[in-house]
Amino acid sequence: MSNFSGSTAATGERDQRDIDLHGDGDTLREECGVFGIYGHPDAAAITALGLHALQHRGQEAAGIVSFDGHRFHSERRLGLVGDTFSRGDVIARLPGDNAVGHVRYSTTGETILRNVQPLFAELNAGGFAIAHNGNLTNGLTLRRELVRQGAMMQSTTDTEVVLHLVAHSKRGRFIERYIEALRAIEGAYALVALTNKKLIGARDPLGIRPLVLGELDGCPILASETCALDIIGAKYVRDIEPGEVIVFDEKGTEIHKPFPPQPPRPCIFEYIYFARPDSIVGGRSVYEVRKGFGAQLARESHVDVDVVVPVPDSGVPAAVGYSQESGVPFELGIIRNHYVGRTFIQPTQSVRELGVRMKHAPNRAAIEGKRIILIDDSLVRGTTSKKIVRMMRDAGAKEVHFRLASPPIINPDYYGIDLPDRGGLLAATHTLEQMRDIIGADSLAFLSIDGMYRAVGEPGRDPANPKFSDHCFTGDYPTHLTDQTQVEQPQHQLSLLAEAS
Ligand code: AMP
Repeated sequence: MSNFSGSTAATGERDQRDIDLHGDGDTLREECGVFGIYGHPDAAAITALGLHALQHRGQEAAGIVSFDGHRFHSERRLGLVGDTFSRGDVIARLPGDNAVGHVRYSTTGETILRNVQPLFAELNAGGFAIAHNGNLTNGLTLRRELVRQGAMMQSTTDTEVVLHLVAHSKRGRFIERYIEALRAIEGAYALVALTNKKLIGARDPLGIRPLVLGELDGCPILASETCALDIIGAKYVRDIEPGEVIVFDEKGTEIHKPFPPQPPRPCIFEYIYFARPDSIVGGRSVYEVRKGFGAQLARESHVDVDVVVPVPDSGVPAAVGYSQESGVPFELGIIRNHYVGRTFIQPTQSVRELGVRMKHAPNRAAIEGKRIILIDDSLVRGTTSKKIVRMMRDAGAKEVHFRLASPPIINPDYYGIDLPDRGGLLAATHTLEQMRDIIGADSLAFLSIDGMYRAVGEPGRDPANPKFSDHCFTGDYPTHLTDQTQVEQPQHQLSLLAEAS
């Protein structure tokens, strides 16, 4: 008999196969957040709050799996955390002292419900739930091999590969089987897993994706970011170390370090765009780092203007830093409408462009007749910058200069950040002058790579020992890209397999 009760209801969702729904050739990747708590009577409600704080990491689907000492319970739905988990009846269906949760954001605009995490399986050792932030770079390769051996995959996520690897392992103790699975995977992962006895956290050997340890009423918590601890008044204990596997059960805490030590390479994009500004990532305040990017930008490429205007919300901290460093007044020249989804989520370029207009409005009073510098955190396709420059001119700005608080993005990401392939990255296919022309700005400048490193307290980028995963800017991928070198099948089949988390 199964010891699992679950629901995967969804509103208006279509359980259809994930082919290339962009229509623009983008592969399917996701950004996610994870949370787990052990031994607390309000485990599910606390997990829901934690996921709410991590909502910026994934807005398309959310799920919680709890364990009540006898049975696992699961609620996984499309939509925002609050749509599902603010309801008392949903939380009541997740009894137990242990829970794990996940928020997910897929670039397709379509999400298959069976991909919504945490994933759950009945193994011969008992139930096993797993939630993953990151992306495996050998997920497809392992998947093909497992399917060849007879595995029947339920989802198209690479996370399911971990479940199957654990199931296939011949080792004795559960933790040994889990570690054997981790040794087989490559890429980026922050994982939280729940068995009928244990909560387990794991971070990839380079620490590409973040994972922190907290404590509430003596109970351990694992979360993608510290903002998920703050929302519930939990204490931040420490970051889970790169390559660390940490296990909580009724006997206490067990730490495993199954990988040979190597210099960590956390993803610099967490500081640029991904993490919430009030989080502490890798011991640094994300807000302060972003201000530092802005200040460095002012030192590198300032021009004489009347006001500094952020592209809200992502450009705000960098614009504060830019204004403080340059002495040019900071003005809210663009007002953001918070009741629309991210621009990125729109499936086609024309709808994406419409989305930018829905999202941002000019504040004439702050910009009319002025020479302005616009600051955004990053430039990807150029959709936002192009629209906003035009909007500023239409609202009467005399000069519009654009500054990006990160270097040009010229390479795709394979570790769980949603970026298009090379062809979709404006900076990969255009010169600076061509980009300035397309965007329509009077001048355009990006933060330098060394400047980005200086803003995080390094002397610059040491190519022999770079402190971060910065492949989007440098092409220096910190792991093997096994799947990329073995791609021979038709694109649509790849898309079916290429789901990440
Ligand atoms: P684009 O308009 O295509 O140039 O994209 C740049 C805008 O998207 C900036 O305002 C960024 O804040 C935002 N952005 C950058 N990276 C991502 C990402 N991975 N997912 C969603 N939005 C992003």
